[in-house]
Amino acid sequence: MRLAGARRFVWNWALARRKAYYAEHGKTIPAAQLSAELTALKSQPATAWLKEANAQALQQALKDLDRAFRNFFEGNARFPRFKSRKRDMPRFRIPQCVKAADGKVYVPKIGLVKIRQSMPVDLPTKGATFRRDAVGHWFVTLTAEFEMPDVGLPTVDPSLVVGIDLGLKDFAILSDGELIPAPKFFRKGQRKLGKAQRVLSRRKPGSNRRAKARLTVAKIHQRIANQRGDFLHKLSTNLISRHDGLCIEDLSVRGLARTKLAKSFMDASMGEFRRQLEYKSIWGRKHLAVIGRFYPSTRLCRGCGAINETLTLSDRQWVCGCGMIHDRDLSAAINIRDEGLRILAVGHTDKTNARGVRIRPVKVGNG
Ligand SMILES: [Zn+2]
Repeated sequence: MRLAGARRFVWNWALARRKAYYAEHGKTIPAAQLSAELTALKSQPATAWLKEANAQALQQALKDLDRAFRNFFEGNARFPRFKSRKRDMPRFRIPQCVKAADGKVYVPKIGLVKIRQSMPVDLPTKGATFRRDAVGHWFVTLTAEFEMPDVGLPTVDPSLVVGIDLGLKDFAILSDGELIPAPKFFRKGQRKLGKAQRVLSRRKPGSNRRAKARLTVAKIHQRIANQRGDFLHKLSTNLISRHDGLCIEDLSVRGLARTKLAKSFMDASMGEFRRQLEYKSIWGRKHLAVIGRFYPSTRLCRGCGAINETLTLSDRQWVCGCGMIHDRDLSAAINIRDEGLRILAVGHTDKTNARGVRIRPVKVGNG
């Protein structure tokens, strides 16, 4: 879509303008001035083609750049870069006037575009993000706002609280002993990806065959990402529906993964899994306890409270001085549940839930 190109053009132009203005005046260009300059740009013959693009989407590019700068100043991101057609996935955002119905989405200045909708939207939409993946499919994400009733969470039934220990051999083990094996597609996808990447590395730079090999790699990546998303969504929905409370460990890099690929898969999965549990627990009004990363879940004996300082990664079982026999992962899951129950009893749940979650419950009432 041309709009993505227009957005990239505006981003790069605005970034250059901000840099030039700063070099000259020693301060940031006022947003209103930049916006006015963008409007003026449209009446110049060389850049008149920008008029064909949705004006709001172009203004949004300025806002996105502004946010990128704010993230940089707050130390959360690196300095904004110029966007390239090759490196950056085409994307643009329209802050309003995007409606989806009957398998079509209405895009201003473009018209009705057929879509495959994953979820019905019956709420007024706030805006939409369009992006294209490496394979060439366009995706649109619609944002809608709704109000969440501000009623307290129900009290927890401890028997319905579960501890979840994430691993690699198995994807997870629950404190009730249930094993969730690592999905089969994972190994299979890994093998295919490795093969495709080796082919890609043999192809001559700039050749057609290299472009084709790159597309193959992108397609496999995409497929793995889709399968991973599907797996995680099913699992998180299932776990949330079956329990009153869920306890997980804070993200920690635990040198478990053997290969680079396995590591990236697990890192991506753990982060995404936790994100899903966070928002789904809010939607489902369930408790979620996130255990601090220094809690010694694998090394703690729940029988006597001793900590096994000599436990190594390869120890699948260990015996405590008190005589208690521990299955490493199961023991960890139980400890995570117990620590989670402690946290829930103290009443930190709301804070835990609010951390790092983008969806905030909105208060109902008083206008
Ligand atoms: Zn012990």
